[in-house]
Amino acid sequence: METILVLAHVEADGLLAKPALEALAAAKSLGGTLVLGLIGADVQPAANKIAGCGAAKFVGVAGADFTQARYATDAAAAAAIAKAAGATVIIAPHTSRWGRVLAGVAQRLGGRVDTHVTAVSLVNGAPAVTRWYYRQRMEAVLQRVQRPWLIALDPGCVAPWQGETGTATLEAVAVNLTDAHKRTTVTGVRAPKAEEQTIRPDAKLLFVAGAGWTKKQADGQTHVEEAEKLILDFLKLTGASLGSSKSLVDISGEGQAVLPFMTHLNQIGQTGSTPRHPKGLSTCCHGEEPHTVGWRFINERRAISLDPNCGWARGKADVLYAADAFQVMAKVNELLAAKKSV
Ligand SMILES: Cc1cc2nc3c(=O)[nH]c(=O)nc-3n(C[C@H](O)[C@H](O)[C@H](O)COP(=O)(O)OP(=O)(O)OC[C@H]3O[C@@H](n4cnc5c(N)ncnc54)[C@H](O)[C@@H]3O)c2cc1C
Repeated sequence: METILVLAHVEADGLLAKPALEALAAAKSLGGTLVLGLIGADVQPAANKIAGCGAAKFVGVAGADFTQARYATDAAAAAAIAKAAGATVIIAPHTSRWGRVLAGVAQRLGGRVDTHVTAVSLVNGAPAVTRWYYRQRMEAVLQRVQRPWLIALDPGCVAPWQGETGTATLEAVAVNLTDAHKRTTVTGVRAPKAEEQTIRPDAKLLFVAGAGWTKKQADGQTHVEEAEKLILDFLKLTGASLGSSKSLVDISGEGQAVLPFMTHLNQIGQTGSTPRHPKGLSTCCHGEEPHTVGWRFINERRAISLDPNCGWARGKADVLYAADAFQVMAKVNELLAAKKSV
């Protein structure tokens, strides 16, 4: 029987974030002996929140040195927890913090690691993982005989664990740190204000803007300021997440006066991201294959394009509105604003 360890770090509020609870739910679906391994300044409140999860034990590495993300301390803590737990399978959320250290931890433990896993399951009674290859074009299910097997589960793929809170009995794991472990210090965090943040992974809708917003329109003029207002108003009214085609972010990167809020982080596609949202609306995009590959995990896709022969019309969108996005979005914003004011 496998001993399945869920690795999680506590957040600034002392609790676990959604991706950690998703990893816990995935781990529970595999059966076996469940162990929770927590890292952070104080891990007891987080352990109490998930006390009813059915874990055989809770182990933790706690202390001020483990508050912030840092390769040396996170890797040392994870390896120590894995050994204390006697883990054969280790599941962690594929957050940026774990993404940086898991391969190194696998090396230290003589194990193997698979990243960007989108599902775990049992195949012939043994754990298996699902992941995508070639920028989400091919899906594979694979198993490994090597143990420990570290699995980084992509956020947003599994419903997070929910259950009883309580008082968990924590087993403290000691990690001997030297000054060399602490050479890197996090001096601060720079992040846009919440209302300026346009990438919202938990949004129900992904709104994607393409280069058409900056192109000359029927009157022979560009209408970039109008485009900017229509897009930002829509984001404000709906709380949607903002994506972009590559062409549009490339224009912005070249320093032209176009959509200044758009960066390469917004780019969807083969060389961009493949976010997960229940719905997506593409506007002024051509719907070319390298762009639409980023829509793999969008359940319902709609597009607005002037060109009825574009890629979206050729079966890549569930619904295509062959229409002027300036007009459509102005009307949509008007209706949304009216609904809000009721
Ligand atoms: C190796 C490689 C990797 C790539 N990776 C990516 C990637 O990750 N992501 C990505 O997006 N692309 C990627 N591309 C580029 C991709 O192939 C397309 O060139 C790009 O997505 C086109 O962007 P676009 O649709 O915004 O612009 P365009 O092709 O210029 O299309 C603009 C569209 O806007 C429409 N339009 C104009 N005005 C209006 C209006 N008023 N109302 C409605 N519609 C209007 C036009 O009809 C047109 O269809 C990649 C290409 C390569 C070669």
